[in-house]
Amino acid sequence: METFAEHYASMCAAINRYMPGADMGAIDRAVEYAREKHKNQKRKDGSPYIIHPLAVAEIVAEMGLDTDAILGALLHDCIEDTDASHNDIEAIFGPTAAELVEGVTKLTRANFSSTEQAQMENLRKMFMAMSKDIRVVLIKIADRLHNMRTMQYQTPEKQILKCRETMDIYAPLAHRLGMQKIKWELEDIALRYLEPEAYNQIMTFLNARKEQDQAFMNAIQEKITTRLSTMGIRNTTYGRIKHVYSIYRKMQAQGKIIDELYDLYAFRVIVDTIPNCYNVLGHIHDLFNLVPGRFKDYISTPKPNMYQSLHTTVIGSQGIPFEVQIRTWEMHETAEYGIAAHWKYKQGAAGGTEKDFEWVRRLLESQQDTDAEDYVHSLKIDMFDDEVFVFTPRGKIVSLPAGSTPIDFAYAIHSGVGNAMVGAKVNNRISNIDATLQNGDIVEILTSKTAKGPSRDWLNICKSNQARTKIKQWFKKERRDENIVHGKASFEAEMKRLGLPTAVLADEELSGHLLKKLAFDTWDDMYAAIGYGGLTAAKAVGRIREDVSRAVKPVPEKNPAMPLRLTPEAAKSRHAVNGVIVEDIDSCMIKFSKCCTPVPGDPIVGFITKGFGVSIHRTDCPNAQNRNDPRQAARWVRVHWANQEEQPFDTTLELECITRDGLLLDVATAMTTARLRVKELNGKDLPGGRSVFTVRFEVKNVAELVAVRNRLMSIPDVISSRRGQN
Ligand code: MN
Repeated sequence: METFAEHYASMCAAINRYMPGADMGAIDRAVEYAREKHKNQKRKDGSPYIIHPLAVAEIVAEMGLDTDAILGALLHDCIEDTDASHNDIEAIFGPTAAELVEGVTKLTRANFSSTEQAQMENLRKMFMAMSKDIRVVLIKIADRLHNMRTMQYQTPEKQILKCRETMDIYAPLAHRLGMQKIKWELEDIALRYLEPEAYNQIMTFLNARKEQDQAFMNAIQEKITTRLSTMGIRNTTYGRIKHVYSIYRKMQAQGKIIDELYDLYAFRVIVDTIPNCYNVLGHIHDLFNLVPGRFKDYISTPKPNMYQSLHTTVIGSQGIPFEVQIRTWEMHETAEYGIAAHWKYKQGAAGGTEKDFEWVRRLLESQQDTDAEDYVHSLKIDMFDDEVFVFTPRGKIVSLPAGSTPIDFAYAIHSGVGNAMVGAKVNNRISNIDATLQNGDIVEILTSKTAKGPSRDWLNICKSNQARTKIKQWFKKERRDENIVHGKASFEAEMKRLGLPTAVLADEELSGHLLKKLAFDTWDDMYAAIGYGGLTAAKAVGRIREDVSRAVKPVPEKNPAMPLRLTPEAAKSRHAVNGVIVEDIDSCMIKFSKCCTPVPGDPIVGFITKGFGVSIHRTDCPNAQNRNDPRQAARWVRVHWANQEEQPFDTTLELECITRDGLLLDVATAMTTARLRVKELNGKDLPGGRSVFTVRFEVKNVAELVAVRNRLMSIPDVISSRRGQN
């Protein structure tokens, strides 16, 4: 059983060594506070609980952090495991220490174990994002390290769970933060529980050759130090066996049994200056045979996690290869403690391009001109600004764009969940469905079979494209009728805006052609698409605009600037529906509004209703007073009473044809079938086997003209048609 006194003394020694300026008064108060709070709790091995916070504080001290971090480490389990509150801690130890404890508590409460490999990166990101302050991550890593060191007291189930979590979350994080020493220790302990057989095999192998290895390493070390000392280069040189997990990985990757592995030794030469690093490299290559292709200069090109050293592999006289790492003391600190080391070396070498580590680089850059104390405070974790990580009630993690709401969450789970949503709970409390989700929130969606489905407002509330797409899809499917009405109204308004008649769409042939261009089977399908937002009215009209205007009025080439609008003559000749003529709209449903019941002779105005044609109001009707409102203006149209029977007007078409017998008869038959009064029909031969027919006839409206023109064009050997001069 370990004692309080031992651990306290050991922690103080570490603080003295690595953080000589620490506030021992505050630290002692925290020790006493935590000891008192945890007094009734025991560790699994029966020792007093306080030993754990002391050990964590010792690890944090070795990282060389600051007093607040030590306080945070000492108090890290107080909120979670005792009756202490954030406010209590803040009152005694200040806001920073309280924030750190709060941060660690959050991480403790979050469930970071997941079986899905795909979730690991998200888990790590969430871990970082939840931490806010890098010191929280470091304390939590220290906490995990001590728990791993005392893992033997846990149940086998817990051992597996914790070790897997360590492998998935903590070791990779330690690696990214450049904390090699801690990473290795975490990996080796985890391997021991996760792959006990392999672990034991490697340990047995290493133990069996321990003396032999030691002798080999001593000889090499001796050889190096002797040479360097003779050359006047101050150095600390030592050899080590590579860590167990890295040997295990090598065996896995190379499919080798351990006896076949030779690359087990690594030597370190630590010197005072960078020039000496390169000097040492020269001596090493002089003393031993170089293994080609293994030299790496991480001094000029640091690793993304700030690691710097020269690496080379050489072969000694016994024919055994070994790696030599050459670095300065500062680089050594960085290699061992990574980001934590930068509390001491504030203008430390930053570098790297790896995206995942970019934030650290940014952090390091931003602190170059500040002193260490400021640096600590400015070291906020802001890299996952654009993402938020939340949990399902079952602990599955969901990554959403920052600012996401329960609506986004619901659709991220399943569109069925979103469509049936009637409410949401966040952290077990009823929440608004437009609330902004925070990292680590546990979100539960309340659904009902009788839910009415999403509301159109949700499209403006949700942040994720996924939710938006799924909501649109719902409207597309569930609200077809409504969409058709909405879509038709916008489509017709757009046609009208461009001066295009909608009546021509009634013509079957033109209609078929236009629908093909639009890639829809029916007009309703297209209206529905516009209605739910899958297609804009402007886009739809844009696609058929040319064809419609060509059908309405073929523009002679010699006069290309001719406007697309109908001529005034044609407009005048428009037929009336229910005794009313709607300007610019060829034929449409007319409805007399009930509010003002207009009768012939009243000044009237028309309003394009959504899907129901035009409703006629008296100009003095209160409902017609908003005609100048810009949002509505496009839907008001000029209408007037038709005073007389519709007057047909004369028009002429010129048909260019390939000359053949019977063509004149075909044209005449077509005109008769169309029940049009033909006033003139004659043909004239052109050179090159062509002929041109001129047909003058009466039509009542443009739709009729379009229809007959299509009919004529469908006669074999008719090549083109154009409006002629009357
Ligand atoms: Mn703990």
